[in-house]
Amino acid sequence: MAAFFAGAGQAVASDTPKPHIARLGTAPDWSELDPFQKTITREEFVYLLQHCYARSPEEFDDLIHIQEDRALILKQSNFPEKGWYDLRFRTQNHLSADAPKFWKRPVDLPDLEPNSTRPLEGLTIAVDPGHIGGKWVTWDDRHFKIGKDTIEVREGEMTLTVAKILERDLSLLGARVILTRYTNDPVTEERIETLQEEARDYLKQRNLVPSSGLIASTAKKMFAISSEIRSRGDLLNTTIQPDLALCLHFNASPWNSRRPTFRSPNHLHLLINGCYSGGEMREDDTRFEMIMRILQRVYYEELALSDIIANKMRKETRLPAFHYDGTNGMSVNDNELVWARNLLANRVFFCPVVFFEPYCMNHREIHARVQEGEYPGLREIDGIYRKNIYQEYADGITAGLVRYYRQKR
Ligand SMILES: [Zn+2]
Repeated sequence: MAAFFAGAGQAVASDTPKPHIARLGTAPDWSELDPFQKTITREEFVYLLQHCYARSPEEFDDLIHIQEDRALILKQSNFPEKGWYDLRFRTQNHLSADAPKFWKRPVDLPDLEPNSTRPLEGLTIAVDPGHIGGKWVTWDDRHFKIGKDTIEVREGEMTLTVAKILERDLSLLGARVILTRYTNDPVTEERIETLQEEARDYLKQRNLVPSSGLIASTAKKMFAISSEIRSRGDLLNTTIQPDLALCLHFNASPWNSRRPTFRSPNHLHLLINGCYSGGEMREDDTRFEMIMRILQRVYYEELALSDIIANKMRKETRLPAFHYDGTNGMSVNDNELVWARNLLANRVFFCPVVFFEPYCMNHREIHARVQEGEYPGLREIDGIYRKNIYQEYADGITAGLVRYYRQKR
């Protein structure tokens, strides 16, 4: 009989499917939400979920149930038997309580002297130069060369140049500035070779045939995107613990990367976290991270910061707005430059994140400005005197941050 029961027990255990999680994610520990019990009102939870986070209300129907005094959140989407996490709303007051978090809002910082020349004093800012550079660009797909005797355009090196300018300029204004990387090298210790098994498992989990081609492309994405961004997230959440993170990128228009040619659009937009699809919310870790952002109420900081910085950047860059069609990006206010989108970096960095996507690198003018490099002063480009592209990018951000913190503290 004993043997029979042991056998039955094993059968039950192996019937529990592996949780459905994002690339290189880990199954969440739902008890980490316990400190947030009764901190958010029902009204605010529903507002944030519907207004910014879920792409549409139908998409979370079978994953999150809103009741009068609580939200029930499914713990494992492919195994409902695991049950629901019971998140109680704050009911004794109409206002939500302060939530546990490591970052500070401007009102939590000491007041400024009226004419202070250091408006960012007391603030810790993480600057995240998107992608990687040097010999690593081969694995990153964010580089190209057009024409003979030209400098190759490499996003991961351009973002690092902007990050170093910001480090200097924001420090002069009083901020403590920490970069997630100071060199072209990746932060992650993983490499494509070490991720083969994970790539195979991930494909099987998604019911895809793990052909050698698909394993290779998945391992490449796991290295350059998932593992790299998650490593930066660990660094940011456990060591840097900033009040704000700035994710720097340069945009590019879609094209055939084998035969690069110039494309005509050139534009600017900023992203805050939001716009989760049903498929994304179905991933247990992604759903957990979304709920964590809602409970920490990063939305208000992200939006207010992005709103002000976007307008300063438009002045500096003179670029028109980019528009999403409402699927993977959606609008949350009346600023046409600001969009909500769910990206790994703005989801797993647990503080307010402003994510920048100015300039299309494969636009003729931007390519020409990259060729000019980081020159001092102004140079005439197409009849207009302009700063070098890196300083211009950084100046838009700096002006926005100064304005925001002068206004809010
Ligand atoms: Zn990028």
